[in-house]
Amino acid sequence: MTRAVMIVGGGIGGLVLTRALAQLGIDVVVLERAPKLRAEGAGITLGANAMRVLAGLGLADAVAAAGRELRAASITDARGRVLATSDFTALSERLGAGHAIHRSALHEILARDLEVAGRATDARVSVRCGTTVTAITAPEIGAPVVTLSDGSTAHPDAVIGADGLHSSVRALVMGELPIRYAGYTCWRWTGTVPGAASDLDTVEMWGAGARVGLVGLPGDQVYAFFVANAPRGTAQDPAARSLASVAARFAEFGGDVPRVLAAMAAGGPILHHDIEEIEVRPWSRGAVGLLGDAAHAMTPNFGQGAAMAIEDAIVLARELAGHDDVAVALRSYEARRRDRVDDLQRGARRLGAVAQWRSPLARWARDLAVRCTPAASSQRALEKILAHVP
Ligand SMILES: Cc1cc2nc3c(=O)[nH]c(=O)nc-3n(C[C@H](O)[C@H](O)[C@H](O)COP(=O)(O)OP(=O)(O)OC[C@H]3O[C@@H](n4cnc5c(N)ncnc54)[C@H](O)[C@@H]3O)c2cc1C
Repeated sequence: MTRAVMIVGGGIGGLVLTRALAQLGIDVVVLERAPKLRAEGAGITLGANAMRVLAGLGLADAVAAAGRELRAASITDARGRVLATSDFTALSERLGAGHAIHRSALHEILARDLEVAGRATDARVSVRCGTTVTAITAPEIGAPVVTLSDGSTAHPDAVIGADGLHSSVRALVMGELPIRYAGYTCWRWTGTVPGAASDLDTVEMWGAGARVGLVGLPGDQVYAFFVANAPRGTAQDPAARSLASVAARFAEFGGDVPRVLAAMAAGGPILHHDIEEIEVRPWSRGAVGLLGDAAHAMTPNFGQGAAMAIEDAIVLARELAGHDDVAVALRSYEARRRDRVDDLQRGARRLGAVAQWRSPLARWARDLAVRCTPAASSQRALEKILAHVP
C-alpha cells in the first residue's frame, strides 16, 4: 500500500484528498504556493453528489450549517421574465440537498484541524504554505524525486498535482499543454444586497452574449456572477475589472441586477477571470498524477468543477490505498473517473456556448426551447449529474 503522498496545491481538491488519504492511514504532505490556505472571495454551489462525498468524510454538516440549501433554480431572460424553474425538493429528498456557500467558509472547513485528520489511523499530515515544487523526476517505475522551492528534496511514494488549471506539476512532468479559451469572461462578487437575498434562490439570466447569475448565500449575502463574450485576455486588463465596466456591459439586465450593481458600489472585491478549460490524456506519468482542475478544468456552466475535484479525491484515495503499485493505482483512478468527467466537461461546454448566443433569432429559438422543455426532462438531466456515486 502507498505510505506517503505529496499533494501539490491546497485548494478544494487537494484538501479533500488529504482528508480522504489520512482517514485511510496514508501520510500526506501538502505544499501550497500561497502563504496561507485560503480561497478567493466568491461563492460556490456544491451539488448533492459533492455533499455526499463530504458527508463520508464527516464534513457535510459543517458545510450545510455554513451554507444555504439550494431549493430551486430559474432561468430568466435579461429582463427577469422566467423561462423555466427547477424545484429541487423531490431531488433533495432522494439524493440529499445541495448547498451554496462562501468559498472562504468552505476552505476554512476543509482546512480545519487538518493536521489531526489522520488521528484515528496514525497517519501524519503536514501542510507547508509558501512552498512549491521546482523539479520532479517521474520514472516509469519507482518513486518520484521532488525538488522543492526551498531547495530541499523529497521522496514520496506518489505526487499528486492538485494545483489547478495552470498546474506546475503537469507542466513539469507532461510539458506545456494547450489551454482552451471558452470565448467568455467572468466577473464574480459576493456581498450584502439589502432586500434581495432573503428569498433568493439561484437564478441565471440570459441576455445577448451575456449572462448574470445570482445565488443566495446565508444572511443577506448574494453571490453574483457576470459572464460576457469577450476576446481572450480581457481579464488581464485592469480597466475591465472596474465596476463601471461591469455596469456598462450589463446595463440591459433587469430583475435584481440593478440592485446588485448598486450594492457592489459599496465595496467588496470584484474577481475577474477568463473562462478556460483543459483536456489532459493521460492524467498520470509513473507515480505522478493529477486531480481536479489540473487534470480537467471545465467551464463552470454546470457548477460542477469543484464537485469533480471532490469526487476525484475519494476515488484516488481508495485506489492509492488499494494498490501496492502507485502507477497502477493512478491508471485505475483515471479509468474510473474518465467517462464521468468527459461527459460533464462536454455538457458544460455545450451549455455555455448556447447560453452565450448573441444572435436575436438564435436566442428567440433558444428561449422558446427552454420554456417548452418539460420540467420532468430537466429533472432527469439534473438527476443524472447529482445521483452519481464515485
Ligand atoms: C467563475 C467560476 C465559477 C465556478 N463555480 C463553481 C461552482 O459553483 N461549483 C463548482 O463545483 N465549481 C465551480 N467552479 C470550478 C471550481 O472553482 C474548480 O473546479 C475548483 O476550484 C477546482 O479545485 P482544485 O482544487 O482542482 O483547484 P484550485 O481550486 O485551482 O486549487 C489549486 C490550489 O493549488 C495552489 N497552487 C497553484 N499552483 C501551485 C503550485 N505551483 N504549487 C503549490 N500550490 C499551487 C493554488 O494556490 C490553490 O490553492 C467555478 C469556476 C469558475 C472559474
